[in-house]
Amino acid sequence: MSKSALITGITGQDGSYLAELLLSKGYTVHGLVRRSSSFNTARLDHIYQDPHEAERRLILHHADLTDGVALVNLLREVGPDEVYNLGAQSHVRVSFDSPLYTGDVTAMGALRLLEAIRASGIDTRIYQASSSEMFGSAPPPQHERTPFHPRSPYGCAKVFGYWSTVNYREAYGLYAVNGILFNHESPRRGETFVTRKITRAVARISQGLQQHLYLGNLDAVRDWGYAPEYTEAMWRMLQHDEPDDYVVATGEAASVRDFLGAAFSAAGLEWRDHVRFDPKYERPSEVDALIGDATKAESLLGWKPRVRWPELARIMVEADISVLEAELTGATVRIDR
Ligand code: NDP
Ligand code: GDP
Repeated sequence: MSKSALITGITGQDGSYLAELLLSKGYTVHGLVRRSSSFNTARLDHIYQDPHEAERRLILHHADLTDGVALVNLLREVGPDEVYNLGAQSHVRVSFDSPLYTGDVTAMGALRLLEAIRASGIDTRIYQASSSEMFGSAPPPQHERTPFHPRSPYGCAKVFGYWSTVNYREAYGLYAVNGILFNHESPRRGETFVTRKITRAVARISQGLQQHLYLGNLDAVRDWGYAPEYTEAMWRMLQHDEPDDYVVATGEAASVRDFLGAAFSAAGLEWRDHVRFDPKYERPSEVDALIGDATKAESLLGWKPRVRWPELARIMVEADISVLEAELTGATVRIDR
């Protein structure tokens, strides 16, 4: 019998790559989609299956991480072999503006899902999307034993989700794992995260549609990897005999300034000619440097990153230029990379 999985956050960057991966492995994939006044499924368009098609393997359900009863009902109805909790208010800067909402979705949402698994009585495995933001100001390199010191409401919410996952493993014997993923990007990255904001601006500047790009702190250092490789690591974690927690990272550091240099030069541009400072993009408390040590994931899961940040910048710039060119010529745009 083929396996089934439920993905919360299926409409996001990682959810769409994970859905593709699981479909390619023969899974039936159920996705939790929250209600929105306009379509929020663009990242899934290329794998979408009409509800009237026979033998569908991608099935979307309306629910919300803030609605615990809906989660219990959905789990009972679907009975998945694996659950991936990728749903979150995932933006650090926004979490300072909406801290309680972020706590409700990102922290309590994780707990609601764990409790819903317990209440529904199904036998399943769960992956919790934990984050390098939990390390916050802890000096790099960060690994599974590095103490957390979050620096944002988002980071605090993810720490709560992390420990709730560990607690359900220890208290109830639930097969529950945390993937502590460092920043990972792709042509499907949300448009307000710094890498995608930069690569979209590079595309628009290269077409003469924009002159300036406004950014905050250029000194922050991140460990940027390629999202499709990171979703493969999520799946590997749930196939392991014992549930455990893993850091997923490239181990390579780059500042926002470094990424700017790589992205602008991929289009033959000089970033200093275009970038302006706007303090509104600074955070009340910043995370200066995140650089991960993924030795454990490599030795226990056989997982290794391949794409490094300079190539990632090039992939994203090329994709944004093709999307823009297609838009300008009226061609159909597909985000299928
Ligand atoms: P995205 O922001 O692209 O996707 C977040 C998803 O959560 C979207 O599908 C969104 O739906 C959904 N969502 C938001 N609020 C709710 C809610 N109330 N109920 C149900 N679903 C909701 O994030 P990524 O794909 O980049 O990240 C996936 C997960 O991994 C997140 O939990 C993120 O915090 C975490 N993470 C990400 C990292 C990264 O670098 N990308 C690093 C470490 C952790 P909608 O499309 O409608 O907005
Ligand atoms: P984060 O690591 O999850 O916060 O991912 P982001 O892509 O949002 O931010 C990465 C780093 O880029 C942070 O240190 C930000 O302060 C910095 N940064 C500088 N300018 C900007 C900006 O205009 N937007 C965003 N999102 N981040 C910026």
